[in-house]
Amino acid sequence: MTGAHTSIRQPLDGRHRPMFIGGRWVDAASGKTFETRNPATGEVIATVPRAEKEDIDRAVAAARAAFEGPWSRFNPHERQKLLLRIADLFERHWEEICISDTTDMGLPIVRARANANRVTGMLRYYAGMATAIHGQTIENSLPGEIVSFTHKEPVGVVGAIIPWNAPTAASVWKIGPALATGCTVVLKPSEEAPLTPLLIADLMAEAGVPDGVVNVVTGTGIEAGVPLAEHMGVDKIVFTGSTATGQSIVRASAGNLKRVSLELGGKSPVIVCADADLDRAVPVAAMSVFANSGQICIAGSRLFVERKIHDEFVERLAAFAGALRIGNGIDPDTEIGPLISARQLDRVEGYLRAGAEEGARLVAGGGRLTDGALAGGNFIAPTVFAGVSDTMRIAREEIFGPVISAMPFDTLDEVVTRANDTPYGLAAGVFTRDVGTAHRLSRRLRAGSVWVNTYHAIDPAVPFGGYKMSGYGREGGAEHLDEYLNTKGVFIRID
Ligand code: NAD
Repeated sequence: MTGAHTSIRQPLDGRHRPMFIGGRWVDAASGKTFETRNPATGEVIATVPRAEKEDIDRAVAAARAAFEGPWSRFNPHERQKLLLRIADLFERHWEEICISDTTDMGLPIVRARANANRVTGMLRYYAGMATAIHGQTIENSLPGEIVSFTHKEPVGVVGAIIPWNAPTAASVWKIGPALATGCTVVLKPSEEAPLTPLLIADLMAEAGVPDGVVNVVTGTGIEAGVPLAEHMGVDKIVFTGSTATGQSIVRASAGNLKRVSLELGGKSPVIVCADADLDRAVPVAAMSVFANSGQICIAGSRLFVERKIHDEFVERLAAFAGALRIGNGIDPDTEIGPLISARQLDRVEGYLRAGAEEGARLVAGGGRLTDGALAGGNFIAPTVFAGVSDTMRIAREEIFGPVISAMPFDTLDEVVTRANDTPYGLAAGVFTRDVGTAHRLSRRLRAGSVWVNTYHAIDPAVPFGGYKMSGYGREGGAEHLDEYLNTKGVFIRID
């Protein structure tokens, strides 16, 4: 940022926080605002601008001016140094970032702290990649002396639209590759958790990101997300969120045929074979869903357990679920925080009723928690249903809450067919001691990530993304950069 950098950092005590456009802290042109609440207590922690099309226009114009102006003169080495400075700054302010996420969206602070490598590691990974972008010299078969080669060029202005369940990682996984490749960004956080992306904009400005390169515009999906997805001045949309919204974004992008990449929902299977190490499988399978109260796209919410160990496994899972410490995530002893909103609470309670009505057997949890300090928040007990059939709603639809549906299986062929029988294909888990089973299942499961004897393992260098209706495009890994680059073929006649 040029000129003196003015920070917006202040306690989360209900005060107003402006949004960040063109290097300035601004309000919506309409002057409208909305409140954001702490989901553990229900308290209003800040108000933020409620942006509309006019504000999106302003942010896209700022991003375009930066893309064509000062930012285009940053060479790869300078972009690399900038990304490394951002990573260092994030590390210094990591606790502040974690507190912001915990307060705005409920993630237990211990889990927020553990995400450091997914964030600073990603920034450093893309810092490295910034100087590794290259085209190719290609031998052609044309008559005469013609040299042919390719250039890799940044696509331009990137619109990034993110959900509320992982605001820090979702922001950085989109901004990092954009900065590495020389793109500029208009980021629209979720209206449910807008505060950490504003803090991130602040830190980026402090690190020296030029005005207009990273803009953060707060608003709702309809009022701010739609105009961003439709905008003729945006060259690419990178979206993380629900499958239904992803479909709207594809339709909205048609006006200028902008490029789109989508990280969408899931209904991931976890398969526990009878030979698995159960001491490991029970907690990992449980936390594959209960982490972040089930509000994770990769939640392993369909649990297939080989019949001969099914009853024992479910019993141990229920005991594990019952022993988890639930509360305000700011308490370092808390393992399970609240759901994001009263609306999400209603939605999850609806699935709990559907499970019971369709004949599933409740073996742990099963309802809202309102005792004592939990009264003001959106808390649901970690829940396990057994006796679930493949056709029940709890086995087919993404719940986005702490609910596991356990089902027995008899053969590997059968479980692969059932595991793949879903419109989604984001992730899958397998627990086995047999290396042949591990290889066979990891090949046959139709999912973008397969974890064997572990879950949630995510590394900046390894691509992450979906099959089927879990989206297309990848985040992480070298191929991710291509999503932010155009390839230009050049022919030069030299005879
Ligand atoms: P959502 O789709 O409701 O909202 C995501 C974002 O899109 C928000 O910023 C929202 O304001 C915006 N939005 C909503 N409608 C829009 C529209 N018509 N046009 C443009 N923008 C619009 O999702 P959510 O409830 O915030 O998040 C939960 C969903 O995200 C789940 O389905 C989850 O699986 C998915 N998710 C996927 C991944 C992944 O990497 N695959 C990661 C996290 C979350």
